[in-house]
Amino acid sequence: AGPPTLRVAAEALESPPVAARVAFVSVVVPVYNERESVRPLSEELLSALRGLGRPCEILFVDDGSTDGTTDILAELAAEEPEISVVRLRRNFGKAAALMAGFREARGDAIVTIDGDLQDDPSEIPRLLDELEGGADLVSGWKRDRRDPWSRRAASAVFNGVTSRMSGLGLHDLNCGFKAYRAEVVRSLALTGDQYRYIPVLAADEGFRVTERPVNHRPRRYGRSKYGLERYLRGFLDLMTILFVGRFRQRPMH
Ligand code: UDP
Ligand code: MG
Repeated sequence: AGPPTLRVAAEALESPPVAARVAFVSVVVPVYNERESVRPLSEELLSALRGLGRPCEILFVDDGSTDGTTDILAELAAEEPEISVVRLRRNFGKAAALMAGFREARGDAIVTIDGDLQDDPSEIPRLLDELEGGADLVSGWKRDRRDPWSRRAASAVFNGVTSRMSGLGLHDLNCGFKAYRAEVVRSLALTGDQYRYIPVLAADEGFRVTERPVNHRPRRYGRSKYGLERYLRGFLDLMTILFVGRFRQRPMH
């Protein structure tokens, strides 16, 4: 018989990872001027979460909305015990909104979903299954993306470049719909537009990152907060992440 440590290691490699059951689910929803969407979204979220039969919370992060979203969120929080609201003093952008939600979230699993009804809450149970199957982060993949063609084309280039440069091989890095083990969100320090690279950051920290196709719907109300300049900014953020994340300890490489 070989040394016991080796035997244990071999067994660990052979058996599929088994992760703890998710006991408490937090859903974090960053919103900036989404007044028509937040109420129907809350209804969809509550019905998906109640179907899970576990304790849960929905945290809306109001990223400095000026269109009346704030009042509707206050009503929702008063009506539904699961719903609460974190309000930012001004519009800080999606990365800061997510960080504010992560700070408050109490779940051992955290789901992020966009507030514009484009992501389908009925996918949540499947994302949680993936965590319970051993993933630390499961990222949604908008395989059939319901956005204008210019957006889809730019996004295809963005995802191709990032996927290659990061070596991660995901199809869709920038999907707002994800589920995380709490340890993953605790390890993130997002600024600027870095929310686009969460899977890269998490994989760099050694977390197990997977992807799952999710249903995507056209935007029904309001409009997208980002134009095409996002892709230039995004590319600069990728450089920051690769350089600060990977070359900090060996700058001459
Ligand atoms: N969002 C935010 N702060 C911002 C811009 C956007 O919290 O400064 C929210 C927005 O309300 C939505 C999500 O982030 O819930 C994704 O934004 P959007 O739908 O505009 O982006 P797209 O889907 O077009 O990439
Ligand atoms: Mg959207």
